[in-house]
Amino acid sequence: MTVRLYWIQCGGCGGDTWSLFNAETPDVIELLNLLNIELLWHPSISNKSIRAQEQTIEGLLSGEEKLDILCVEGSIIRGPGGTGMYDEAYGAPKKNLVASLAKQARHVLAVGTCASFGGIGADGEIEATGMQFHKWSRGGFLGEDFRSKSGRPVINLPGCPCHCDILAGTLAALVTGQEMELTGHNTPLEWYGMMVHQGCTRNEYHEFRVEEKQFGEKGCMFFHLGCHGPLATGPCNKRLWNRRSSKTRVGVPCFGCTRPDFPQQYSFFETRNIEGIPIELPDGVSRAHYLAYKGMAAAAAPERLKTRKTEI
Ligand code: SF4
Ligand code: SF4
Repeated sequence: MTVRLYWIQCGGCGGDTWSLFNAETPDVIELLNLLNIELLWHPSISNKSIRAQEQTIEGLLSGEEKLDILCVEGSIIRGPGGTGMYDEAYGAPKKNLVASLAKQARHVLAVGTCASFGGIGADGEIEATGMQFHKWSRGGFLGEDFRSKSGRPVINLPGCPCHCDILAGTLAALVTGQEMELTGHNTPLEWYGMMVHQGCTRNEYHEFRVEEKQFGEKGCMFFHLGCHGPLATGPCNKRLWNRRSSKTRVGVPCFGCTRPDFPQQYSFFETRNIEGIPIELPDGVSRAHYLAYKGMAAAAAPERLKTRKTEI
């Protein structure tokens, strides 16, 4: 049976689209064919006239045509003054169209951090918010109680951008009717039930607190260079980007782009600390345990890690 998918872009940069188009195995065309997905509309690749597009929308909103999956990319823009007219579609606020389509959809996906949590425009002049969250708080645009026709809340797929494998995997799970457990932030546990830290090639340096203060070395970037690997959920070091690498593997700290508060209002390249102790500790680690452990770990660090030279 054909699965009908409508993709709507709101307040975002389009990065999630380009991440999806970077999928390799399968690529986006293979993915749509394999899952028998009929793409009703995608602003980057659809080639419908405005009239044909309006007819599609009319059919979906009247319920005459079914809508299996609604993908929302970008935040919902409510400004100025709650009107939503900063972002319009067919002469009306686009937010109204999103709400109407969401009511008709069997599944609603918020693709990327902006759609999930508000992202860059949240709290700004454009009055942006996420589909069902505003930063850490439930509610967002559709409200906490919203459920799509499948009975699920909006499924959040954060990331700036969302990793293409996560979107492909979520679509596959929905189309084939697989179980999908969600976290407290309505993200699929399969991909967001781990920290970015897991799988980082610098883990051993982190364990023994071998810290970098400058870029270009092999040690851990958590303590001084702002790495959010132990503070952000996501599979970036397990499902590598372009099947090759991740930020931390190439020596760039994780910015925590999957977190509801992304982009954070502080420097990406510094670890906020008090007297050398990071303000935010790895998720779930108590301050008392951290203080007791950190000195011992550094003292026990083997020479090969301290010198960044492993020779056998
Ligand atoms: S660089 Fe970041 S992700 Fe890698 S081990 Fe250190 S804290 Fe974890
Ligand atoms: S490594 Fe961090 S900043 Fe980079 S994509 Fe993954 S979660 Fe986002």
